[in-house]
Amino acid sequence: MSDFKLLIGGKLVAGDQTMDVINPATEEVLAKCPRASKAQLNEAVAAAKAAFPAWAATPIAERKKALGAIADIIEANAAELARLLTQEQGKPIGDATGEVYGTAAFFRYFTMLDLPVKVIDDSENRRVEAHRKPLGVIGAIVPWNFPLILMAFKVPPALLAGNTLVVKPAPTTPLATLKLGELIKDALPAGVINFITDANDLGGELTAHPDVRKISFTGSTATGAKVMAGAAATLKRITLELGGNDAGIVLDDVDPKTAAPQLFQSAFQNNGQVCIAMKRLYVHESIYDEMCDELAKIADAAIVGNGLEQGTQLGPLQNKMQFEKVKELLDDAKKTGKVIAGGTVPDQAGYFIKPTIVRDITDGARLVDEEQFGPVLPVIKYSDPEDAVARANASPYGLGGSIWATDLDRAYKLAEKMESGSVWVNKHAELAPNIPFGGSKMSGIGTELGEEGLAEFTQLKIINIAR
Ligand code: NAD
Repeated sequence: MSDFKLLIGGKLVAGDQTMDVINPATEEVLAKCPRASKAQLNEAVAAAKAAFPAWAATPIAERKKALGAIADIIEANAAELARLLTQEQGKPIGDATGEVYGTAAFFRYFTMLDLPVKVIDDSENRRVEAHRKPLGVIGAIVPWNFPLILMAFKVPPALLAGNTLVVKPAPTTPLATLKLGELIKDALPAGVINFITDANDLGGELTAHPDVRKISFTGSTATGAKVMAGAAATLKRITLELGGNDAGIVLDDVDPKTAAPQLFQSAFQNNGQVCIAMKRLYVHESIYDEMCDELAKIADAAIVGNGLEQGTQLGPLQNKMQFEKVKELLDDAKKTGKVIAGGTVPDQAGYFIKPTIVRDITDGARLVDEEQFGPVLPVIKYSDPEDAVARANASPYGLGGSIWATDLDRAYKLAEKMESGSVWVNKHAELAPNIPFGGSKMSGIGTELGEEGLAEFTQLKIINIAR
């Protein structure tokens, strides 16, 4: 495959350089992909800047129409996009198809929102109105675990608000994004959206660019901190959706057999490479052994393989660096806990790790304290739920968390004490375009999705008239 192009100023162009994209299920080169130069990044920003005044002045009804048209295009090309996504990202084709349709749904959701003028005071002495104005050029930086849907957390609200964009996918998963750029090229005026790629070398440039007004970033906490520092000199707005180490806490009134499949899914979907995956599981001592056994059974039965093959439930890790990182944490966990399922790396090409359950492990072990972002779950025993919440909160991260219980009042009281942007009860990692999403502590700054997420792509402007 080699027919991928950047989209700059409404034109599909070759990169000044190229780079290989690897299929993580085979370790073979999947495609030659364009790699933008710094000059091309500057062209993309200039195109977005030039397109901004007209797009900002376009009636919101027209902008909504464009978002709807993009959703239609995504759905009409779902099969091709999903196949590319599986090949570059590794996820099973069913999951990739779900991601593509989800992406379309996120575009469609934002066609239903508006940015009405809010009248704050309309009295004898004055009329005060709050307007929501677009910011200008937005830089959207996306990671490799959900290349399309995480892009759709940013692009539709930014466009709806009247901004223009430069979108940069992760170097290891640029293909479905570039294909999308090609497909939607004519759905928007030239320059309103631009797609560039890099080899991890242009994110900093985009962040520092004086003509970019905001960076909407999803990725690791370490890179998020660089974005924050890089945005300071030009006082850019930033939204940072970063790493997490979500805890799930299972109370003593839960039936392990019933809950285990859902707990497994919460931890292992997308092979654990989800910012809000359940990354450590605290289980009450009275049901601990049974829960460990149930989880191990499910892990043992899971089908791991190439995402294009029928029946595959878990694909490979997305890239070699992540593969090595998870293997290192797994090796360490073998010393600090007891592996009761998986724990092995199949002797074949591809970045595969068998889904792994580690029991008799506790806080202080690397697998518990760090974000593994892979298919290895530590299951930790506790006796006092208040103590479990305190241990869940004793983390620099605060993205998500969950309480699992039959007694919902008890669960609710504990949910209130969790220090995270989202807390679920009897589920984990549910996201929807109308539910605001964001992290506390080192999991991020700001909010995406919902009306609050849309507002972050605007500048609040007050008009205050004397009477
Ligand atoms: P990463 O931080 O390595 O990369 C993310 C993006 O940032 C990529 O596009 C990369 O090219 C770019 N980048 C690299 N250096 C940059 C710089 N100096 N300035 C600006 N951009 C730069 O993250 P990753 O490894 O691709 O993704 C995994 C991480 O993302 C995990 O920690 C995960 O939890 C997190 N994540 C968070 C969310 C969320 O919504 N909170 C969602 C998905 C993933």
